[in-house]
Amino acid sequence: MEAMWRLGSRAIAEHPPLDEDAEVDVAVIGAGITGLTAALALAEAGQRVMVLEAGTVGGGVTGGSTGNLYATLASGLAPLRRKWGDQMTADVVRARAEAIDHIEALVARHAIECDFRRQPAYRLVTGERQPTPHDLEDELDALVGVGLEAELADGPGLPFDSWGIRIARQAQFNPLHYVQGLAHGLLGEGVVIHQHAPVREIDAGKELVRTDGARVTAKHIVQATHTPKGISLVQAGMPVSREYAVGARLRGDDYPEGIIWVLDPFHSLRSYRHGDERYLLVVGEKHPTGEHRGDHYQQLREYLARHFDVAAFTHHWSAQQYSSPDGLPYIGRMHGRDNLYMATGFAADGLVWGTLAGRIIADQILGRVNPWQACFGARRITPGKSALQYARENATVTKHMVKDYLGTEKLDGFDGIAPGQARVATVEGEKLAIHRTEAGDLKVLSAVCPHMKCIVHWNASESTWDCPCHGSRFDTEGEVIEGPAFHPLARPEGHR
Ligand SMILES: Cc1cc2nc3c(=O)[nH]c(=O)nc-3n(C[C@H](O)[C@H](O)[C@H](O)COP(=O)(O)OP(=O)(O)OC[C@H]3O[C@@H](n4cnc5c(N)ncnc54)[C@H](O)[C@@H]3O)c2cc1C
Repeated sequence: MEAMWRLGSRAIAEHPPLDEDAEVDVAVIGAGITGLTAALALAEAGQRVMVLEAGTVGGGVTGGSTGNLYATLASGLAPLRRKWGDQMTADVVRARAEAIDHIEALVARHAIECDFRRQPAYRLVTGERQPTPHDLEDELDALVGVGLEAELADGPGLPFDSWGIRIARQAQFNPLHYVQGLAHGLLGEGVVIHQHAPVREIDAGKELVRTDGARVTAKHIVQATHTPKGISLVQAGMPVSREYAVGARLRGDDYPEGIIWVLDPFHSLRSYRHGDERYLLVVGEKHPTGEHRGDHYQQLREYLARHFDVAAFTHHWSAQQYSSPDGLPYIGRMHGRDNLYMATGFAADGLVWGTLAGRIIADQILGRVNPWQACFGARRITPGKSALQYARENATVTKHMVKDYLGTEKLDGFDGIAPGQARVATVEGEKLAIHRTEAGDLKVLSAVCPHMKCIVHWNASESTWDCPCHGSRFDTEGEVIEGPAFHPLARPEGHR
């Protein structure tokens, strides 16, 4: 099912498939908030830009997000301050506040109808009120210390007892409508956006990007793909996780307003109005990608039903996040190549990071000084702040490599796989990802992820094959949905 942001969304003019070679100044790979922010800044500065998008505009994580815009971080400012100190915490908040102002300015300049509005953000607990938990005290201190208007407050009209911190003047919008608005701005600048054009190879040395049908020569190549494609140093330390969203209509008109984070341990709530209809959205149930554990949508439906008077469940979807090992995103020129750029490690905060990233990368290409470039550089190495996370991620990859290669069941054939079932198994010495559709069709793919050879796992909530090592995901035909893999899961001999 699709995200509720698609309600009333505007189609982007389809261009013919890219089947002729082309030459541009900048190839932007990915039409999410990062790629389109960068592309617009570059096009407005006179660069010849082409956008190559594997799916559709905003169809990646941007269109699956919650649409909350805040200068703080969803995981809290206090942990960031403990790791990085006062100055970096203040820089993070200033950079993020400026990015929200930039979004607001673009909404006004391009008359983007995306329901952008300033709203407070709440960080709430549900337990005893006295004494104030240390975590909340630390958090409030960190927020006030960087100049945010934060105070202790009750939750915003929730049907359960909640209290915590209220931060004034944050914002919300419809993230899909916003990036569709950016895309229309780009079309107005003469930029071609090729949708359904997955990039299969990047050769920055040769200034070359290859799709299935064409070769694009570009002086600069921007990987606005949420995580860099192919093998990259940063992937070794970045946990990848999935999070789920459920939308509902309530009986009555009592929808809570604002950005609402309930630390129970974590649910994010917000409401949204489309025409005469109102919706309540809950996001949560985060787990490492490839380690799917039951019916996450059902858990969220039960959460909503427990707390609200639900009339109907209307939407559900999920999305992926990549967290950086030292808590800050990686933005800008990549190691080893001055003409290749990336933006990743946004965790749950990437609508704002992505906007900042788009501006930093555009400034780097244009040779302009960006005040935030040094804080979030993609070439930084911070062993003191990231070593633990690198060690954890490497242990996870090793665990999966050993367990999945040695522990896969052996099958003599596919008869035991019933309609609707999927399994990873060794058949005639080959690791296979086997799925039988509800209609009884058998789909057999290699279970070996083409990125770094881990074994994919079945994700029953979304009927996808997910790699637990670095987050590449594939549909039941094997095509890449997201993650660092360039290429689909192979089709073994006899199953093509
Ligand atoms: C459930 C959830 C809720 C969230 N809510 C919020 C929120 O409220 N506020 C917030 O600030 N952040 C939020 N985030 C994080 C935020 O949504 C993301 O960090 C941000 O949208 C990333 O934007 P992006 O443009 O970098 O990536 P994406 O939007 O994923 O765009 C990348 C694009 O690259 C394309 N692509 C990938 N590979 C290729 C290829 N080979 N060739 C061509 N194109 C390719 C993809 O199709 C995709 O469209 C949330 C994340 C999750 C998981």
